[in-house]
Amino acid sequence: MYEHLWPTDTHLLRVLERYLSLQLAEVRRRLAAAEGAAGRPVAAAVPASTGPRPRPAAAAEWVIQVDVGRTRRPIAVHRGGCPDARGPRTVPATRRDAVDALAAGVPACLHCAPDRALGLDL
Ligand SMILES: [Zn+2]
Repeated sequence: MYEHLWPTDTHLLRVLERYLSLQLAEVRRRLAAAEGAAGRPVAAAVPASTGPRPRPAAAAEWVIQVDVGRTRRPIAVHRGGCPDARGPRTVPATRRDAVDALAAGVPACLHCAPDRALGLDL
């Protein structure tokens, strides 16, 4: 399905592989948090208004924006905190992820210019 949408470039496929591994790690982290150490759901047992609220995750230094399609193809690289890189279509990324994505041809955001921040201004 959607075979024609998949990239054939090996570097871009590596970027996708890395992105998907990050997504899988995040799903596993959320599952572990939801199930707690005893393997039972914690969210249902503890009312939302009790106990300390979890701190929001630190803002990522780099962000990869993905498209709305099922493939969630990377469509732009941003610096963390860029106002154009918020919402469910963004993925926190490491410096290496950002460099790899840019090297694979994913466009740099014109507003926050991650390529210049990374010293990759091509
Ligand atoms: Zn940006």
